[in-house]
Amino acid sequence: MKESSKIFLKQLFKEYYYINSSRIAKEVNRISQREIAYISLETGKIIRHIGVKSKSDLFNLILTDVPAHLYHSAAYYLFPDREMDKKVLLAADLVFDIDADKLTYKGAKIDYFYLCDECHEVYKSKREKCEKCGGKLREIEWLNDLNVAKKETMKLMRILIDEFGFDPKGITVYFSGNRGYHIHVSGGDVENMDVRARLEIADYLKLIGYDLVYDRYPERRTFKRLKRILEGREIISDLNEGEADKLRSIIKGDLDIQDKVKMLNTRLKEKIESYIRRNEGIEIDPVVTTDMHRLIRFPESIHGGTGFIKRKVDDLTSFNPFNDAILLPGRKIDVYVEYSPAITLRGEEYGPFFRERARLPGYVAAFLICKGVAEVE
Ligand SMILES: [Zn+2]
Repeated sequence: MKESSKIFLKQLFKEYYYINSSRIAKEVNRISQREIAYISLETGKIIRHIGVKSKSDLFNLILTDVPAHLYHSAAYYLFPDREMDKKVLLAADLVFDIDADKLTYKGAKIDYFYLCDECHEVYKSKREKCEKCGGKLREIEWLNDLNVAKKETMKLMRILIDEFGFDPKGITVYFSGNRGYHIHVSGGDVENMDVRARLEIADYLKLIGYDLVYDRYPERRTFKRLKRILEGREIISDLNEGEADKLRSIIKGDLDIQDKVKMLNTRLKEKIESYIRRNEGIEIDPVVTTDMHRLIRFPESIHGGTGFIKRKVDDLTSFNPFNDAILLPGRKIDVYVEYSPAITLRGEEYGPFFRERARLPGYVAAFLICKGVAEVE
């Protein structure tokens, strides 16, 4: 990134933090017990193990060395500013991370293109190196649809409330600022759960170790699906001919579900299990949920990879990240864009751009600069 681009981003980010400080500070409770960390926009280095006494401490910090990324610990510590093994863990929020990147098998779409940093050639598909000059290629990830991640988040919410019985008041959903959603659960007994309990929750959600032989509770989601399959009301598409024949003959038989299950051979059983896991399992990142010492992106902070905000979501159904998470100032600025597909931010379409100058609102310019496809000249 050119120095001129960095100065522009720093100014824009600082302005955002200055204007929104009170809204941001409200989002994290017991801030004095959290470890604060950030990646400096200036140096690109991560600075960890910061403790702040108050919200104004936090904002002095942010406005002095503007972060490209800002984090807080999921955990509450007695001494948040000490080294890891001397912090003394008191409790931790339960956090779930749903990322479009992991949901491509459920239909999420992520586009990539490749830029040569030497001769600036653009490629739509991956290759070893630039065909024109042999230069190294940089992969740029391009999102245009986060609906699959949204649906997965809705499914997770229903399970947390209906099956785990968590109080909806303790659950907050955020757009992550990039490819998905974060779900924070705090308060009550949740905070005091140990790693083992968190691991069990993660396994349950992902259906790790799911065995249909033991799936016998009629009110369970997985059992209902299993029943539909074995009664021929739901079709599994990826069976070969032999397996499909075998399953058809089992479906036809006048047996109850348990007896039908007994007739499945190992291969067919595994295929049905993996189908159920794919459709009923929730694609969370298990590390985020089980690692109590993990750093979490600070709510309402700027994601330095997009310039989008990790935004609190009040109504998931109507939430549109390309509108609702775009909160950087809109003052126009001239930039040079190497390459960019068309993007729609706050309801207006920009681009496509190819090796051209453009006068763009601050948040559009910031997005393109953060993506590494534009510079302030
Ligand atoms: Zn090249």
